[in-house]
Amino acid sequence: MYFLSDLEHKYLIHRLLPAAREARVSAELRGWSWHQPPLKPYYEDVKLPMYAVCSKYCPTGRDIYLNFVEKISGTLNSRMALGKILHGVVSDCLQAFLQKRSLNFELWEQKIRWDEIPAKREEVLEPARKVWEYLVKICEARYVDIASSQPYASEQDLLASTVPFLVEHKISGELLGLSGLLSLDCYDYMRAIMFDLKVGDKPQDWHRLAPVGYSIVFESVHEVPVDVCCVVYLNLTGNHILVKKDLFFASDELRNMWIEERDRKLEIVAERRDPGRPERSQCTEECRYYQVCYS
Ligand code: SF4
Repeated sequence: MYFLSDLEHKYLIHRLLPAAREARVSAELRGWSWHQPPLKPYYEDVKLPMYAVCSKYCPTGRDIYLNFVEKISGTLNSRMALGKILHGVVSDCLQAFLQKRSLNFELWEQKIRWDEIPAKREEVLEPARKVWEYLVKICEARYVDIASSQPYASEQDLLASTVPFLVEHKISGELLGLSGLLSLDCYDYMRAIMFDLKVGDKPQDWHRLAPVGYSIVFESVHEVPVDVCCVVYLNLTGNHILVKKDLFFASDELRNMWIEERDRKLEIVAERRDPGRPERSQCTEECRYYQVCYS
């Protein structure tokens, strides 16, 4: 899922990294400048999760008001349930591989509390199995390939080279007005790429905000630069798994967009200000708050 193809790797090395080195990121937009404007959050008492800052499913941000001011959790639909399950499949499978735990899908599936998933078991089980098996095959093939070229590498080194990822890494975003319990989808520590996984979504420009936000948080805590981000789009059509990647430079422009969105969402919650509904045509019944906004 987070493994780059040969072509993507070429693009990273020959286009993205040279362009990033030339354009550079302004010092005040690096996460380690969290203590001064524009990164310093204006409201110190409000902390939001990353998805709340970066999600633009609701054009006015009314979903954030309903969730964090009115404390209404809304209704999850089956598409969201599939997204949740497949996120779990990707992170659990990669972690099981890294920790040399069982890669048996049936064992993993037994641990799911199906009564908490708002989707029919049979609808999500097969997609989950396909993604699980796909990941196991890739990891095993990469492992064998790396092991054959490094006969003196230890088991631990081979595993770390095969899957060079921090998966579901826990990190605090408190310096930037975010939750202290953030969990990033994946960080490739060999290539310094911040990944964000999207399941069943069509690409949107604003999807870039989440990995850019996590890069800034990572910089604020660990004080290492993260210049490259990637949104991974995972889709299943029939029997096929489709994985597309949007690999990009975490530029000043994107960092400023993230700060603007963070400030807008923090203001909604801190001032308890209902931003209202957009034109009805911009709301869909897929929105978890549709029943709340239009009942
Ligand atoms: S129904 Fe419309 S206004 Fe209400 S939260 Fe959803 S997108 Fe926003």
